[in-house]
Amino acid sequence: MISVERALERLLGATPVLPEEVAPLGAAAGRVLAEVVRADADVPAFVKSLMDGFAVRSADLTGGAVVLVVVREIPAGTDPAALPPLAPGTAARIMTGAPLPPGADAVVPVEESSPAADHPGAVRCAAARPGDHCAPRGADVRAGETLLAPGDFIGAAEVAVLAACGRAAVRVGGRPRAAVLATGDELVPPGEAPAPGRLRNSNGPMLLALAARAGAAVADLGIAPDDPERLRAAVERGLEADLLLISGGVSMGARDFVGATLRDLGAGILFERVAIRPGKPFTAARRGRTIVCACPGNPASTYVSFQVFARAVLRRMSGHPHPGPAAVRGFLAAPARQRPGRAGYWQARAALVDGRLTAEILPASGSADIAACARGNALVVLPAEAGARAAGDEVDILLLDDPFDR
Ligand code: AMP
Ligand code: MG
Repeated sequence: MISVERALERLLGATPVLPEEVAPLGAAAGRVLAEVVRADADVPAFVKSLMDGFAVRSADLTGGAVVLVVVREIPAGTDPAALPPLAPGTAARIMTGAPLPPGADAVVPVEESSPAADHPGAVRCAAARPGDHCAPRGADVRAGETLLAPGDFIGAAEVAVLAACGRAAVRVGGRPRAAVLATGDELVPPGEAPAPGRLRNSNGPMLLALAARAGAAVADLGIAPDDPERLRAAVERGLEADLLLISGGVSMGARDFVGATLRDLGAGILFERVAIRPGKPFTAARRGRTIVCACPGNPASTYVSFQVFARAVLRRMSGHPHPGPAAVRGFLAAPARQRPGRAGYWQARAALVDGRLTAEILPASGSADIAACARGNALVVLPAEAGARAAGDEVDILLLDDPFDR
């Protein structure tokens, strides 16, 4: 039996990083950037108004409210080079995002102005200081500045940065193809009523959802019975993917054929039993450039196996520089105990309580309790040697709701 840390090391060491490719901007979200992105120009590229109002010469307004003659209107999109200088005693009506004319050095917002009733075409402006309500050239970004770097996850804000830099296409890490195979004579598809003794396949849809959320292009291989020939045919198809996710058939039962089938098909077993609870019989293998994650059939075990191992594989393949699960530190809401020997990954609900990240381990009937997983949003990680923990003890927490998934 291998520790979780060693297992992850061995698994990620065997996992190839997929070749980079070029993605159009519209398909870049969720990928990993594979190039440096620098600003191609100053932003803003000119002195820009931050408000709807009046561009003014602040020197005209040092003494307080003054009536200025409104000489023109400057909408956003006006070419700054086409603007004549603003003469003393005048103002230009200006919109947010429009360039200030030469000579103007401040903006008086509409809210701080009033029509000058006795002077048609004039405006009474409140006092202003140089720089009020306008942004100097390059205030946000300088031309040549590095904005994004290889390994950055591309979320919505990164997409906006790429768009702002004129990048219609961008170099990204590869997108892994994941195939999902559920095994078990007892399984029926979710749309069917199970005959007595049989069970709906919940792991298949769950693994498809997990892999898709982790950025993979997924393929459903359905259900294979515990029959060596038919299992072999299904696994052989799955080995064409970058990652083959299997559920069931990896324990010690007389009809658990997954390990033997993988060996038969020429896959090298990386490890077969991990010191983890739930999920001990997790089996990892590689054939060529394909990684196999074969999870124990109990749904909560499959769930944890994916969260700890398979997601890291997908992230490595996609080019993430830190593919492993990243725990944060938090505090136990209630005492916890576990038998020593295997690291515990316990379904939990994490929340901020008085400003502290606090996790409550959820009651679960066992490793088939998928409803407990659905109630949880985190896993509390207790190391293999941990015995009893008190309420308030500091622990590792894996957050599962992707609060930072932009
Ligand atoms: P196994 O690892 O194949 O021995 O399965 C362990 C337990 O998980 C058994 O009770 C199975 O019925 C159950 N199980 C296996 N595969 C699935 C699945 N795809 N969906 C729901 N439960 C499953
Ligand atoms: Mg089975």
